[in-house]
Amino acid sequence: MQNIGKLYLVATPIGNLDDITYRAVQILNDVDIIAAEDTRHSLKLLNHLNISKPLISYHRHSDENKTDLLISKLLNGENIALITDAGTPAISDPGEEIVKKAIEENIQIIPIPGPCALINALIASGMNTREFSFYGFLPLNKKLRKNKFEELKKENKTIILYEAPHKINQTLNDILNELGDVNIVIARELTKIHEEFIRGKISEIISSYTELKGELIIIIEGTKIIESDNIKELLKNMSLEEHYEYYKKQNLDKKEIIKKIAKDRNVNKNEIYMKLINIK
Ligand code: SAM
Repeated sequence: MQNIGKLYLVATPIGNLDDITYRAVQILNDVDIIAAEDTRHSLKLLNHLNISKPLISYHRHSDENKTDLLISKLLNGENIALITDAGTPAISDPGEEIVKKAIEENIQIIPIPGPCALINALIASGMNTREFSFYGFLPLNKKLRKNKFEELKKENKTIILYEAPHKINQTLNDILNELGDVNIVIARELTKIHEEFIRGKISEIISSYTELKGELIIIIEGTKIIESDNIKELLKNMSLEEHYEYYKKQNLDKKEIIKKIAKDRNVNKNEIYMKLINIK
């Protein structure tokens, strides 16, 4: 029986060409075919590496036939490396479809690790890296976008979003309106000359930067804001007694508790004081 080929998912640089791995170069040299998102774009990398191979374009808008063509080549014993314009295939990039089909055909899939923009943005963000949620690009359709924001409001992990530079202003304003004045990090131009991390409250970033250029990732601090929003909601719905007990458990003295309750309920301290005398 003829051996079937292997599908390699090869990560390529997200800016700095030196970030290609030895193993990626070896695989790209060894395979029979390279399937690339944009063949012209990938040629620059392959020329830089002195690699000359048959290239087949495989992009987001490729139809099912293109996937089937690559699968038939794999079944014919040809080894294929899938690369994208930048980073790791199948992460907000083509790859998912062919991987699913390859699994159905018992084709071996081998990931070749390397750059991935979201991971590098996250590790240098200074935010919680133990638990995070990657949402890729937000939908453009109004209703789907609104639904996605509803989902984000409930998210208590660090949130990672991809965005195109010409849509960043709109997206930052949408985040401010939907999630409030959250702490964010914008990771810009990773691995390139103008690499930059912009950290702060989203309102401050919006007012300080009128034009954010280049490739960008938005990281949103999930836990604190959303938890504190939930707590606020919870406290508002408590009786005054329950509210008092909530702070008492935190070992606060009476004066401090009254001050906090007044702030939570947006009323005068004396009003709370008088009401508590009646209760207690
Ligand atoms: N598959 C890629 C990966 O592994 O990261 C991501 C591809 S996705 C189509 C492109 C998005 O990734 C950009 O819009 C941007 O949000 C992010 N991105 C890619 N390269 C970047 C870089 N050098 N700096 C910051 N963000 C980058």
